[in-house]
Order: sequence, then C-alpha cells, then structure tokens
Amino acid sequence: SPRVVIVGAGIVGCALADELTARGWTDVTVLDRGPLFRTGGSTSHAPGLVFQVNPSRTMAGFARYTVEKYLALGCFDQVGSIEVATTPERLAELHRRHGFALAWGIAARVLSPAECHALFPLLEPDRVLGGLHVPTDGLARAVDAARAQAQAAIARGAVFHGRQEVTALEDDGVRVGDRHVPADLVVCAAGYWGPKLAPVPLLPLAHQYAVTGPVRGLPSGVPILRHQDRDLYFRETAGCLGIGSYAHDPMPTDVEPPFAAEQFAASLADARALLPGLPDIEHGLNGVFSFTPDGFPLLGPVEGRPGLWLAEAVWVTHSAGVARAVAEWLVDGRPSVDLHECDTQRFEEAQLSPSYVNARGQRAFVEVYDVIHPLDPAGDPRPLRVSPFYARHIALGARFTEGAGWERPLWFEANAGLPVPDLPPRDVWAARHWSPIAAAEALATRERVGLFDLTPLKRLAVTGPGAAAFLQRMCSNHVDRPVGAVTYALLLDEGAGVRGDITVARLGPREFQLGVNSSLDLAWLRAHAPADVHVADITGGTCCVGVWGPAARDLLAPLTTLDLAHEAFGYFTARRTHLDAVPVTMLRVSYVGELGWEVYASAELGPRLWDTLWAAGASVGAVAAGRSALTSLRLEKGYRAWGVDMTAQDDPYSAGLGFAVNLAHGDFVGRAALRPDGPRALCCLTVDDGRTVPAGREPVLADGVPVGHVTSAAYGYSVGAPIAYAWLPRALSTPGQPVEIAYFDERVAATVRAAPLFDPTGSRIRR
Ligand code: FAD
Repeated sequence: SPRVVIVGAGIVGCALADELTARGWTDVTVLDRGPLFRTGGSTSHAPGLVFQVNPSRTMAGFARYTVEKYLALGCFDQVGSIEVATTPERLAELHRRHGFALAWGIAARVLSPAECHALFPLLEPDRVLGGLHVPTDGLARAVDAARAQAQAAIARGAVFHGRQEVTALEDDGVRVGDRHVPADLVVCAAGYWGPKLAPVPLLPLAHQYAVTGPVRGLPSGVPILRHQDRDLYFRETAGCLGIGSYAHDPMPTDVEPPFAAEQFAASLADARALLPGLPDIEHGLNGVFSFTPDGFPLLGPVEGRPGLWLAEAVWVTHSAGVARAVAEWLVDGRPSVDLHECDTQRFEEAQLSPSYVNARGQRAFVEVYDVIHPLDPAGDPRPLRVSPFYARHIALGARFTEGAGWERPLWFEANAGLPVPDLPPRDVWAARHWSPIAAAEALATRERVGLFDLTPLKRLAVTGPGAAAFLQRMCSNHVDRPVGAVTYALLLDEGAGVRGDITVARLGPREFQLGVNSSLDLAWLRAHAPADVHVADITGGTCCVGVWGPAARDLLAPLTTLDLAHEAFGYFTARRTHLDAVPVTMLRVSYVGELGWEVYASAELGPRLWDTLWAAGASVGAVAAGRSALTSLRLEKGYRAWGVDMTAQDDPYSAGLGFAVNLAHGDFVGRAALRPDGPRALCCLTVDDGRTVPAGREPVLADGVPVGHVTSAAYGYSVGAPIAYAWLPRALSTPGQPVEIAYFDERVAATVRAAPLFDPTGSRIRR
C-alpha cells in the first residue's frame, strides 16, 4: 500500500489512520507537534457535544456514523440532546430541523415545555416554548476517541510520533526540521494550523467555553442542551455546567487568548435567564478552531499539488464520518457519499482570497446558530462578481441573491406593473426572497419572451487536437459530432455517480464550449485531460443571455443575417454570428422549455449585447426575468439542477437522466458501473392543497413513515400548483401515488405526477 503521512493526531488524524488501516493501507505515519494524544489542538479542548441534525444529508450522515463508532468504542455518553425555543420563530425552526432529522433517518421529536422540564429539570417550563429532542445525541470523549482510534490503527501497523513538528510539505513527503519523511500521499489534518502548511481556506477563531461551580439539582446524565436564541450550549460535567458561547464577536487568532470571566458576563446572564440559580463561572478558556467560508469541511485532493490531501475544518461531531469518507476516497478512488459540499475544490478563485476567507469565516461564526433561509444571501464581500449587465439590472430594480461570488437577480421591481395571476397566499417562510413579480416574469416568458442573465453559469473552453476524444471518454453521451452540434451529457465518476450534467457545443474541429455546473467539473476535467487538451475557464471573460419564449425568434431575427428558422437553426445546435454590432455564439437550447437561444459574447461587449436585445425586445414585449421565475419554469419542465436534485451519489437512470446516456458511443468513464434498476427514483410531486411551497430537504412520508426527501420545489405558475421533486423508493414512484411532505409542523398531502407537467412533448421548444 502507498506510504501515507498524516499531519496531526487530533481526532481527525487519528480517525483517518484507523479508517485507512482498516481498509488495508497499513503504511501510515501520523506526526504531531504536541504530545500524544492530548496534543494541545482543538480536540484537547472540545467538550464533545454531538448534535447530529443538520440541513445537509452528508453532514448528518457523518455525525450518525461518528455516534455509532464512538459508542462502539466506549467513548460516547449517549445522553440525548435538547434544542430549546424561546421565540415562535425558533420553535418553527425546530420543527424544520425535526424535518431534517426525519429526512436523514435520525429519530427525533418536538417536545412540549413540560417534557423539556422532565428531561432537564433546571429548565422551567415557562421559559421555553418547546424543544427538539434527539435521544441518540450526546457527548463524545474526544481525546479518548482519538486515542482509541489511534490504538486500533497502531495494531494494524500505523506509527504515531508526538513532538514532531512538520515544517513543510514537500512533493514527496514532509519535512520535520532537517529531516525528510518520505511519503506517496500526505494528508493535512493539522486543524486550525492547516493554513500554515498548505493552501487551506479556513479562519481560526477563538470560542468561549466556561464551567460553573457545582449546580444544585443538576442530575448527572442530563441531555446536552442548546439555546440558539442566545448562542449558547450546555453540558453537565461532574455536577457542574459547561457553557459554550458564540455570542461574542469573532476573535480571529491562532493563539488561544486568555479567558476573563467578565467577558463571559453577558452569556452567563443569558444562561441564568434560561436556567435560574446558576452559580458563578469557576474557570474557562478561549479555545481555537476552524471556520470556513461556507461552514463545511475541506476534504480531498488539492489541485496542482499531486499527493496532497486535506481533512480540515472538521468538528468532533463529524470526525469519524469524515475519516471514513476520505479513506474510501483514497483507497477505493471514490467516496460512498456525496462530498460536493465539502470538496476542497468547490471554491472559485475569487473565494480564496484571505480577505474573503476572513469575512465569510467570521460570518459563519456569527451565524452558527442563526435561522438561515436557503435563499438568504451571504454578506461581505458583496458585490464581488457581477455580470456586464449589472448596471442595467440595477436600473431595472433587480433584487439579488448571491452564489459562488456572483450577484444573481431573483426578480426585477421594474416588472411590478406586469399582470400577476391569482396566487394562493404564502406562509412567512415561503414568502421570504420571493415576490409575485416572479410569477409575472414566468408567465411573460411563456407568453412572449424573457431575458435571463446566465453569465454566472460556468463555461469552459476545451480545445486541442485530443479534445474530441477526451470529451468522448469523459461524457455519457456521444459528443464527437459535427461542428455546430450541441449535446446534453453527464459527467459520471467511476461508480457511475452523476458528477455533473453539462452541455457540450462543438464550435470547431478541435474546439468545444461546455456549460458545466461548478468549479468541481473544471477540476475533474483538468485532472483527466491529456497533454494535447487544454481546459480553460472562460466564465469571467464572457457573458450570456437566455432569450427564451415564443417570441424569441421575432426578437432576434431582425438583428442577424442568419436564418433562425427551425429548419435552418435546429434545436440543440450552435452558430457563430453577429447580433447587430455584437459578435456572438448562439446555442439553441433552453432551461425553461420554450423556443429560444443562449446568446454568448465576450464580457466587454456585454452592455452592448444587453442594450441590443433590450431595444429589440420592446416590440415583442420582452421582460428581464430572474432566477425565481427560472426555477419555477425549469421545474414545470422537469429540468434537473445538479447538486440539488442529483449528485455523485445518484445514478443517471434513477435521476431520470437515462436519455443522456448513450451506450453505443464506446467506452466512457463510469460506463462499466452503470446499473439500470436502482432502488430509488427522482419523482415529480404536486402539493394537494395547491398552496404550500416547500423549500427543499423536507422529508416525504408514506403511511406516516419517512421514505424520501424533497430536492427542488417551486410554485408552477403555468400549471397552477406547487411542484416538488423528491427521491422516493421506486415502488412509490408511480403517478397517482399519494404521499405526505412534512412542512414545519404540518403534514401536507402530495401526489406523484407524470413528468414533465408542462408541454410533455416538447412542442414549444421545437418550432
Ligand atoms: P486538532 O485537534 O486541532 O488537531 C490538529 C493537530 O495537528 C493538533 O494536534 C496539532 O498539534 C497538530 N499540528 C498542527 N500543525 C502541525 C505541524 N506543523 N506538525 C505536526 N502537527 C501539527 N466540536 C464538536 O463537534 N462539538 C463540540 O462541542 C465542540 N466544542 C468545542 C469547544 C471548543 C472550546 C473548541 C476549541 C472546539 C470545539 N469543537 C467542538 C471543535 C472541535 O474541537 C474541532 O473541530 C476538532 O477537534 C478538530 O479536530 P482536528 O483533529 O481537525 O484538529
């Protein structure tokens, strides 16, 4: 097996050594600058609270495995957990979190105040509105768990050395002072010191943890407790109460600042307001640990540094699950769970500046217990990336959200005067970041034409003598077609998991333009590209408008000498031309299910392109349209969004993407692992009450039992119903099947439908 050096014997390094050696990789050396196993890292300080519930299925899965493993190792006190609500908004959030628990297979219940009191006697029932109880949560004894996993690894041949500070990572190993330790693979698990050794986008922040004197009436073994409305958590420890606080300002530092009880005064007062009669603080610390821009860990290989991997920014809560996934990835070539949220390569270059990591890391700290809506935009630095149409969009009253650093219009206030259909009332949650204007934009697109800014969608140029052969090997569909052909294809991994869904436009014999999902696709293609193929990210240097709707041809035809008739410029083809003064590439594809083109130009021509389309659009009633309308339109048509509807955990057939797999085109990555009969299917549902619009990640139940979860959802303005896509057992995927969606504290009835709901024959696109 390869020689592996792991830097760091915290809980992550130890867990990884255990998981690697358990898979037969026994040449593992773990080095730590501190003494083993109380090294002085974050693990040494962690009070070890494990709350498994998480909006992310992957993170919840990591936590579940960690609980099972540490329980089996005898390092886990399964005392259960309670998260309390002191505001109606938090109580609603606890119901939402209960939904995540159901969706991800974690037993949980929302308790009354009296039930909270019964489990945690210091909690007076009149102080809380309710609580979320997870009986399998509890306390990991973090250093014991690290030691136990290290010992298991040592028994299989791993070697651990304390007091060995790695001073540099080298191409073929690591440097410890003047000594070179050779390795084929180096995994940096150095916790918050990671950035000193490798490009690790994390921010070390200090966090207050304090312990009271003995608490009267505190039974041992009470559940761990969270009071998110005041940024506090609690655990019992030898008759005293340990209290952690995120209520203070972020403290960026890589040395532990001294603890002063007066700094904790406000948090202690908040704690006493919940748990009356708490004694004073006896001791405390400011422990340091890692925060990333999006709160997720940093796992996997580092681009451009062969042999270097990261297992960074991981909580005790997720440590064993992360270690298992990274070990599978290393040993088997792919993890068994979807890691796209955690992949080291998920960030764009503009998200890797120290200032970005600093601003977003601090925000992740501040928001750690906040109620976050899926569409809540992140804060500074904004605006960071804007399309060339930005100024025009501001003038049209765009309401923006943000993703991958890009400003993205949700809708345009300038459209407020457009006719809006009769819509059912929305609850507060579903009304956030939504406007009836989105309905008007969606209908205007179906009736006339909408102009959609597609600039933030990632585009690559793949060029060179070997480009066609390379893409044939990477894509599930036949893409080595004549110049001008556009193909929808999947990027599969070796296990036939869907890594991405892409459009491949052949613009020349050796030149392809790809519309991809994210920087992960770029990294994947670059990692596989042979020497005679060049893969370039052209997103920032170009721009794109989706011109979609029945009047798209009328809008565009006067601007070009090209024949835009269906017979001359067919569906899924590409041409280069001019629109008035602007050189463009036009792809006849649509993400909304209407006639139309994606129009690409280089970025400096963007404002001129927008003005040209805008002026030409006046005569056909074109509107600027945002993402809120786009999501509704795409779901009416059943078009998937990668990362939400399907991931590398899903195979193409189950995801309803079998049409993009062409077994006749020869060998391609993932082909050998394709299986047509997966146990689950991505299904289209409509909500029976006609008004409840899920947000995504809600559990779906059949006969009261959780059977799946919602991926994307939106109100379908043309079909007049809320639409939700959901993964369900194949046996429940037949149209007409009744199910329920758990939405906050309600169970709303929904029905599986034949998809797509709108224009199932696709006649509107092909005309
Ligand atoms: P660490 O434990 O920091 O291990 C990294 C190791 O790398 C260290 O031992 C260090 O000595 C070594 N190292 C660094 N640089 C080098 C080098 N150059 N050469 C050799 N060795 C090096 N998480 C929870 O899940 N629940 C909690 O309740 C919880 N509470 C917390 C409370 C506090 C006060 C703190 C500080 C953290 C808390 N955390 C909690 C977070 C959790 O402790 C960490 O996320 C986790 O321990 C990180 O584990 P690690 O192995 O990645 O890092």
